[in-house]
Amino acid sequence: MKETHHSMGLRTLEDISSIILHSHDLPETLENIVTIVARRMHTNVCSIYLLENDGETLVLKATKGLSKASVNRTSMKVHEGLTGLVVESHGMVMTDNAPSHPRYKYFKETREEKFLSFLGLPLFERKSPIGVIVIQTREARRFTEDEISTLRTITFQIGSIVHNARLLDSIQHKEQERAWLEQELAKVKNASSLDGTTKKGGKRGAKACVLGGTAVSAGFSQGRVYILDRFNDKVIQLAKVGSNAEEHHKFTIALEKVKIQTLYMEKRVSEMLSEDDAAIFHTHLMILEDRGFATKVTELIDQGIGATRAVHEVVHHYVQAFAAMEDPYLRERSVDMEDIGRRIIDALEGNGKTPLKLKEKRVIVAEDIFPSDLAMLDHDKILGIVTERGNAYSHAAIMAKSLGIPAVLGVSGLMAASQVKDEIIVDGSSGFVYLNPDDAVRQEYERLERDHAVRLKEMEGLRDLPAVTTDGARITLNANIGLVSDVRVANLNGAEGVGLYRTEFPYMARPAFPDRMEQAGIYSRVLKGFPGLAVNIRTLDIGGDKSLPYFDFPREDNPFLGWRSIRVSLERQDIFREQLAGILLASTDGCPTIMFPLVSCVDEIIEIRSILASVREELEQQGHEVCRDIPLGVMIEIPAAVQTVELLINEVDYVSIGTNDLIQYILAADRNNPRIKSYYDPHHPAVLHSIKRVADAAAQAGKKASVCGEMASDPLNALLLLGMGITEFSLSAPSIPLIKQTIRNHSREECRTLADAVLACRSNAQVRQVLAEARKTLRLP
Ligand code: PEP
Ligand code: MG
Repeated sequence: MKETHHSMGLRTLEDISSIILHSHDLPETLENIVTIVARRMHTNVCSIYLLENDGETLVLKATKGLSKASVNRTSMKVHEGLTGLVVESHGMVMTDNAPSHPRYKYFKETREEKFLSFLGLPLFERKSPIGVIVIQTREARRFTEDEISTLRTITFQIGSIVHNARLLDSIQHKEQERAWLEQELAKVKNASSLDGTTKKGGKRGAKACVLGGTAVSAGFSQGRVYILDRFNDKVIQLAKVGSNAEEHHKFTIALEKVKIQTLYMEKRVSEMLSEDDAAIFHTHLMILEDRGFATKVTELIDQGIGATRAVHEVVHHYVQAFAAMEDPYLRERSVDMEDIGRRIIDALEGNGKTPLKLKEKRVIVAEDIFPSDLAMLDHDKILGIVTERGNAYSHAAIMAKSLGIPAVLGVSGLMAASQVKDEIIVDGSSGFVYLNPDDAVRQEYERLERDHAVRLKEMEGLRDLPAVTTDGARITLNANIGLVSDVRVANLNGAEGVGLYRTEFPYMARPAFPDRMEQAGIYSRVLKGFPGLAVNIRTLDIGGDKSLPYFDFPREDNPFLGWRSIRVSLERQDIFREQLAGILLASTDGCPTIMFPLVSCVDEIIEIRSILASVREELEQQGHEVCRDIPLGVMIEIPAAVQTVELLINEVDYVSIGTNDLIQYILAADRNNPRIKSYYDPHHPAVLHSIKRVADAAAQAGKKASVCGEMASDPLNALLLLGMGITEFSLSAPSIPLIKQTIRNHSREECRTLADAVLACRSNAQVRQVLAEARKTLRLP
């Protein structure tokens, strides 16, 4: 059956959402995207070029169809070639005879002379171009409207995927850092002449030795050893065996106890780390609840061997089965089985686990470490983790990484070599551990540790610091998110919650309108990603430049002034009710607030409230538990809302200024049209006075006004807005550290002086001048 372009585009979107989940780094993400797009669009070539930091060099980053050798080698300036033209013109470039196009430039290494037709679209992250996606075919072919629109839809998603993948790459810097550390390590080794043999140690004459294992969580630590005790086979041999009935009873109680303990661990880890990290305990629960497992133990108890041995044998059987699997991930599940077995035996033998209290900070040394150990140990006291068994696939390794604890696993000979209170250096970057190091090694590592700390600080030092001005005003910095994968990026950047969750993505990545349950599932994942933090869910904001492939929008002369956003929701209440139901169904999984876009009058809020009340009533009647007091807010993004903000704010709990739209509507300047870019001016007095009016109205009403448009991502603008009285910003997550640093370096007084000066200006030119001077005096980029 011939595929329609619509379904083709949708399948591609589905593929792309799976790429988000399954790609691990930027090159892999890009490679997966080009492969799928070329396949689905039936083109000979699909390539992605990304802009370098200089903003003018495009580098080929992934290709399906051109020579692979040209990846990372072919580059061009934005004023060169058809690809450069895409960035330069901020728009589509299409031709069915590329070589005859005046901007055609031939790059020998790509061997691309074979391709006649060319279609290139810019990749944007918000408003800035970050690269280009190009499709090419050998035959001269005009791409149809449908094909173009499909590629546009895909491109819309790719921008933020690429942006996020880039960000994760830069935050992790793993390979680079590792190479650097290994180099430094070689120096250390040369300097200290340690070669893996034992020799007399530094302090107490204890045995010194260097051992190697798998580096699973980067960083250094130095301290005293804490040997984690495990039950050993003796426990099993010495276990008392009662009557079969007693043993059955003991097993039932132990199983229940471990289930409760597992639930507790799941909760603790998901609060401490993330839902993903806690998921392993869910798997544990499933095993504990698996009837097959319980039946096997029960059958053995019936044979009179007692509950402890029965559990030991059944677990052993499972462990062996998993350990024999080829797939390293599945093989690692044998560790989960062991973890469960050990905990049931602990419960049977009365060693029920309570959080292990370490008196002082120590490096944990153990035969192996299980996720449950990490869930129960006091993390602040764990300097590092070194184990004899285990590898990078283990959940404990993943958790150690998430917790930022340096760890080296799979160190053979560890247990035989180490003794209680030995000194140890753990190098979680190179995979070496030094027991009782001599002074030369110690000093060298102390230096490395300092350098490493500085580097880490550069990368994420600001994450856990509050955004507070030098005179103590606390500013809230939230993240703008859209994809579930943004949750991680937001957390990595220290977002204090979500100030704008654009819910369009769940609608775009599906073949039809998602129903309430599908939406609830997604919202719930996002809410759980921010435990205890507010997530401001904005209802569907389609129309304007955001379309849905399966939804027919009327043709309009002015779509931005047309049927979009809340106007669609209020007219298509079937869609709106389904979304509100989805939000309400997920509402007990976190702290949602609901925000409505493009609201222009109080009447709309009254109507929204009545619809929401009716959806809530319907759900409650069906027996669902939903939050009753979800705070409601509106976006201030059109002049009518500014002019009536004092009235609107009375009807809601908070407002959020969407500067992206507000600027375009106040100044009648399309936010996406590069030709009138100079008219789209965030510093136009009309914009600034509007923001000030909203901030004042909110202060007067004792309610919160935040800014969630891109404007606040610029440090100078953030200070200016702060000076106008805005104390909460929602930004694209990667901008948070810089804005936080800016806020932490300035006082409210400086911000107010700046705002007063700017608001007193009589012309745009004067505003520009004041801002240029402020940039210098406030030492801003
Ligand atoms: C805005 O308009 O400023 C805004 C934050 O919403 P969006 O960019 O999604 O229109
Ligand atoms: Mg908007």
